[in-house]
Amino acid sequence: MSDPIIVVGAAQAGLQLAESLRAESYDGPLLVIGDEHHAPYQRPPLSKAFLLGEMAQDRLVLRGPEALAAKEIDLITGVTVTGIDRNARTVNLSDGRSLTYRALALATGSRARTLPLPGADLAGILVLRTIEDSRRIAESIAKASRVVVVGGGFIGLEIAAAASKAGKPVVVIEALERLLARTSTPIISKFFHELHTSHGVDIRLNTQVTGFVGDAEVSGVTTADGATHTGDLVVVGVGIIPNAELAQECGIACDRGIIVDDCSRTSDPLIVAAGDCTARRTADGTLLRLESVQNAIEQAKSGAAALIGKERPFTAAPWFWSDQYDVRLQMAGLTAGYDSTVVRGSVEERKFSLFYFKGEKLLAVDSVNRAPDHTAARRLLDAGRSPTPEQAADEKFSLISLAK
Ligand SMILES: Cc1cc2nc3c(=O)[nH]c(=O)nc-3n(C[C@H](O)[C@H](O)[C@H](O)COP(=O)(O)OP(=O)(O)OC[C@H]3O[C@@H](n4cnc5c(N)ncnc54)[C@H](O)[C@@H]3O)c2cc1C
Repeated sequence: MSDPIIVVGAAQAGLQLAESLRAESYDGPLLVIGDEHHAPYQRPPLSKAFLLGEMAQDRLVLRGPEALAAKEIDLITGVTVTGIDRNARTVNLSDGRSLTYRALALATGSRARTLPLPGADLAGILVLRTIEDSRRIAESIAKASRVVVVGGGFIGLEIAAAASKAGKPVVVIEALERLLARTSTPIISKFFHELHTSHGVDIRLNTQVTGFVGDAEVSGVTTADGATHTGDLVVVGVGIIPNAELAQECGIACDRGIIVDDCSRTSDPLIVAAGDCTARRTADGTLLRLESVQNAIEQAKSGAAALIGKERPFTAAPWFWSDQYDVRLQMAGLTAGYDSTVVRGSVEERKFSLFYFKGEKLLAVDSVNRAPDHTAARRLLDAGRSPTPEQAADEKFSLISLAK
């Protein structure tokens, strides 16, 4: 039998890579290897519906073993790829095997960043990345008397919302001068600050965590201003680290992730990479790191095409979403460089879209509880069309018809 295409990482990007290879009519052997003990599953609900106990675990699963078998995709779970020999075209596995590949796809994702500060090994300090993490946090929230969330990014805020909904006092500690500073504009940061405050969450900005205190179990978080924030559950949500070491160790070009082009090609012609483990070199030379389901899916589609010699560049506008309390934020496009904004709808009623323009060009749209605007925004951005500011603000104007 001929050597398989091997996909390393059995989650969002890895699954999509394998299924897209089949969709692209690749009919040779295909093997997906993942180190988790689960069939490929989605992570977004881990800080939303699943954490809130509103979603069963089987609904997290993206594709079960039977569905994969039907597509002749072999799946190995609970096994780590420990090394790559590019000359021999082999991967080494944690179970001692060595397998030869015809081509390789890296979809190793990322892991939660931790804070190596005094007291970091106390029980009750958790991060969120896996099903097991989410379950542990849900159980701990139920038992906690006070919750400290370190990090005011999307995952931290979603956890804060879940703990607050469970009736627990919550403090969010953020080192920067506003929430969501890395991913959102000041207007959106202010909106979420007020949303959380209205639910009783205590938000501390410009506050640096210096350590954790407790006796075996955590009882508080110390900060640079000399304060101690008491809490018997601490969840750290301070970003991710791309799992790029496997690529780096075998000499594939990396810089804050495995460097890929718009077609998900790495510096090795036999190896593509997709998802959280990558940093994409865009046409203008900048390195773009996106951590989202859309990025994982689109890069995987591009990578599958590249492996069979087709050019399918990922050029679609980025999109993302977050659920907190009764608010769904949906973001489309990238806001960098905007010089004006227009509001459609009502911020007070928590039902609005914010349009970001550079001159007359639409760059991005953030929608709060306005799903149709988000759909239209993605179409407009992908088509390179911009409404005028007046059209954007006018709720009677059909944005979707402009996109057609
Ligand atoms: C709590 C949470 C909430 C999120 N919410 C949203 C959201 O609302 N919207 C959104 O767009 N995105 C969200 N994201 C981000 C999104 O889930 C990720 O961008 C996406 O999962 C990336 O998929 P991936 O396949 O690249 O990586 P991962 O999902 O990290 O999968 C990589 C897999 O590879 C495995 N692996 C790593 N190294 C090896 C190895 N050497 N051998 C074998 N297996 C290996 C890993 O264990 C993992 O199973 C969220 C993420 C988290 C954690």
